[in-house]
Amino acid sequence: MRDDTAPPVPASPSPDAGEGEWKGSAGRLAGLGVSQGRAAGPVLRMAGPPALPAPRAVGDPSAEVAAVGKALEAVAQDLNRRAAEAGGEASEILEALAMICEDPMLREDAESRAASGVDAAHALDAAFAQHREALAALGGYLAERAADLDDLKHRAVASVLGLPMPGLPDPGHPYVLAADDLSPADTAGLGDDVLALVTERGGPTSHTAILARARGLPAVVACKGVMDLQDGTVVGVDGTTGEIAVGLTEAEAAAVTEAEQARRARLAAGSGPGKTADGHPVRLLLNIGSAADLRPDAEGVGLFRTEFLFLDRKQAPSHEEQVSAYAEVFAGSGSVIVRTLDAGTDKPLPFLGLPREENPALGVRGLRVDRLLPDVLDTQLDAIAEAARRTGTEPWVMAPMVTTVAEAGAFARRARAKGIAKVGVMIEVPAAALRAHRLLQEVDFLSIGTNDLAQYTFAADRQHSALADILDPRQPALLELIAMCARAGQEAGKPVGVCGEAAGDPLLAPLLVGLGVTSLSMAPVCVPAVREALAGLTLAECRERARAALE
Ligand code: PEP
Ligand code: MG
Repeated sequence: MRDDTAPPVPASPSPDAGEGEWKGSAGRLAGLGVSQGRAAGPVLRMAGPPALPAPRAVGDPSAEVAAVGKALEAVAQDLNRRAAEAGGEASEILEALAMICEDPMLREDAESRAASGVDAAHALDAAFAQHREALAALGGYLAERAADLDDLKHRAVASVLGLPMPGLPDPGHPYVLAADDLSPADTAGLGDDVLALVTERGGPTSHTAILARARGLPAVVACKGVMDLQDGTVVGVDGTTGEIAVGLTEAEAAAVTEAEQARRARLAAGSGPGKTADGHPVRLLLNIGSAADLRPDAEGVGLFRTEFLFLDRKQAPSHEEQVSAYAEVFAGSGSVIVRTLDAGTDKPLPFLGLPREENPALGVRGLRVDRLLPDVLDTQLDAIAEAARRTGTEPWVMAPMVTTVAEAGAFARRARAKGIAKVGVMIEVPAAALRAHRLLQEVDFLSIGTNDLAQYTFAADRQHSALADILDPRQPALLELIAMCARAGQEAGKPVGVCGEAAGDPLLAPLLVGLGVTSLSMAPVCVPAVREALAGLTLAECRERARAALE
């Protein structure tokens, strides 16, 4: 039993903890495990943009001219190599970037600066800046490409200073990615070579952790010291316990991989709808960011995070583009709960052009964006309704970050006016949980987002690595709020699910069922372990766990 003052507990000890102990490794690092599973391989660090050193006195300008040329050639060569490996659209983009580095005007500008006595790094920096300004002045599509020049500049400057290239490594072999922190856009762009993620910063419910789980990648956050490891050091990553074994031998690494494959095979052998040992049904649904995350044998989608489709976009997605993205998901899964755009805090959507916030988690985010930009929600609801018509499906639609009954009612009316039959709201704000019974007079269902509900209940930033223990969803205060919502749902005869990360934790899932929630929605990779956990307990045992936790 835990109480509110209990000491920190590990994020989520798994039923597999203890299986296949790490052996013979040279050292260990500890962080927070945020995405289950183990992996082993050479670590590579993701470098940030290089810091430009103070200008240097130049003795031999011709050496600087040569260094400028060499750096531009090295960056172009690297991009062309990656283009050849990538193929398709990615290869065209990479080739176009290589061509910018090969542009004679850019090279002449940088070389003439170097010839006049500027050191190579500053000559490149100034030439790229000049080019960027010229592009930005042209406006339109070319102005959007100006940001690419910053990336190329960082690469060229890193090359001339002998520093690792910034951005995601691309070594052409599997590796464990280490980073200070990763943005959701970095995580979304990860290639298939990445075996696991380890970051110095980040928290258990940050969106980077969520994307790692969606990809089925073991991940550890808040791991001090990982950026001090030498590139190429072989590490073992345990995404459940948060442990990093440093300096594994080849045989030890192979044993980790083999044991992980066996674990995944055992869990994958389970199938069928979610239920407790005595047959109480609990729908096990998927949290997805696009049609690519769908699984054929799933019971449906409990959270379609539509904003993940448009991270990094500088121009608003058109009605037609949205219709086809949504239709792809609706056609792939008969039963889908779509969440309208949840922009703000760590999920900025540049195309919205929202003003900078002093306190973004408490500012204009989620449904609140509608106060500034009502067209965005209307366009999205139209696109969802059209995608539903085209696919002959009946998606349920819910809004994020709802606080008041008035907001819920207004959202429900807007959605129903567009022809959407089932409308719900997320419970992410304690004020909404406290009024769950009233919200259910306005909407058809509730979905509890425990990630934000924990953040706002405990007043602890969900991304803050030092506050992870406070954010523990086993805290009775959070469980009380979930219980209130579940009770309100039972009284109204309407479904109340959980779609925060707590739903995918095999130790917490039975407890949530015991509190009375009707569905659990999670990253696809979490489903097998949750199915196994529920199948091992009766409903009465789940209720007993919930009772004990609440006490
Ligand atoms: C949540 O807050 O629990 C949730 C599911 O939404 P997100 O993690 O996308 O903010
Ligand atoms: Mg949320």
